Amino acid sequence: MANKWDAIVGTPEYNENLARIRKIAGQQGHLLNPDEERIRKVVGLMTMNNNEFGKYYCPCKQNHPLDPAKDVLCPCPGMEEEIAKDGHCFCKLFYQKK
Ligand code: SF4
Repeated sequence: MANKWDAIVGTPEYNENLARIRKIAGQQGHLLNPDEERIRKVVGLMTMNNNEFGKYYCPCKQNHPLDPAKDVLCPCPGMEEEIAKDGHCFCKLFYQKK
């Protein structure tokens, strides 16, 4: 079955967000999830949020429907704490370097 993010994977908007995410990982000393399907899902849904709402809202922590007044942007304020505690952020996008 097709995923709802499949159509956005590989678009310029997706690639721009993926480049942004890779840059953040590099700057903060983290890795991305080695599971590329997970990357496609999280980055794809986040890119869809940006296309619709103009900001990179976290797709895993968001309300349904998304609430711009409450939902967090990626990278979120809890990221470093989650990585330190669990080895990855809530979305399993950013991982701790071993
Ligand atoms: S949980 Fe991960 S993907 Fe979601 S906003 Fe935080 S850092 Fe980004």
